[in-house]
Amino acid sequence: MPTVFVRVFQELNDHLAPNRRGRRLEVNAAPGETVKAIVENLGVPHTEIDLITANGESVPFAHRPADAAEINVYPVFERFDIAGLTRLRDRPLRDPRFELDVHLGKLARLLRMCGFDAEYRPPFDDPALIDRALADHRILLSRDRELLKHKRLTHGYWLRSLDPWRQLHEVLDRLDLRARIHPFSRCMSCNGPLEAVSKSEIAARLLPRTARYHHEFKRCTRCDKLYWKGSHYERMLARLPASKPAGRNDDWYPDRHPNENPDSNPAPDPDAHSAADE
Ligand SMILES: [Zn+2]
Repeated sequence: MPTVFVRVFQELNDHLAPNRRGRRLEVNAAPGETVKAIVENLGVPHTEIDLITANGESVPFAHRPADAAEINVYPVFERFDIAGLTRLRDRPLRDPRFELDVHLGKLARLLRMCGFDAEYRPPFDDPALIDRALADHRILLSRDRELLKHKRLTHGYWLRSLDPWRQLHEVLDRLDLRARIHPFSRCMSCNGPLEAVSKSEIAARLLPRTARYHHEFKRCTRCDKLYWKGSHYERMLARLPASKPAGRNDDWYPDRHPNENPDSNPAPDPDAHSAADE
């Protein structure tokens, strides 16, 4: 009976019993047992696994490790960057895109606030979510483990937290996205990219007070909503998990009323900017 040593990395530890996390585990494998079976027996779902190495070499799920093999198990997100046997974690991710499960409307808005492409759209049934994630090469974010275990799905992440801000921290941490935060470059309402627009062009849509104090504006290229620098900006930025990246000047405040339910994801309203006028 081979004895192997298994170390799982990052969030995969969440699937282990607390006293086994972050440790090199000695596992007595059955004769001929595959690494997939060994790791799954530890409790780690295959959809969250991206790469398994044995003694430093990338191996397939069907690999049968030799006695005393050192097995490392890495999470699924790294699939974006690996080509063949490339090591994980040392390479930057491409721009990730997200598809969000129902009940994650608040997280969708927060991801958009940070500039990430985060679609949150019906229908929210499992096949539709998976189809869109696959077709668009999006990471499916969900609180539903069963959804993420679906065979067809290649990129999914199970959110540990119930709180939208903590969920945002989770996503930024797991994908190492802090350096990619690009505040207010994307519409919080509809996920459309924002473009700069001249004040004269949208002057007729501004309330007098807004027109008096604000001079730089952005417009959603999808729903036409207006965004401008505002006093809430500092407060929102302070809640972002990372400070504004150096060299950027994206001081944009979305024109959302502070009391608006951020999870309501309302239909785009071109006149909604007036609600946030100060
Ligand atoms: Zn929009």
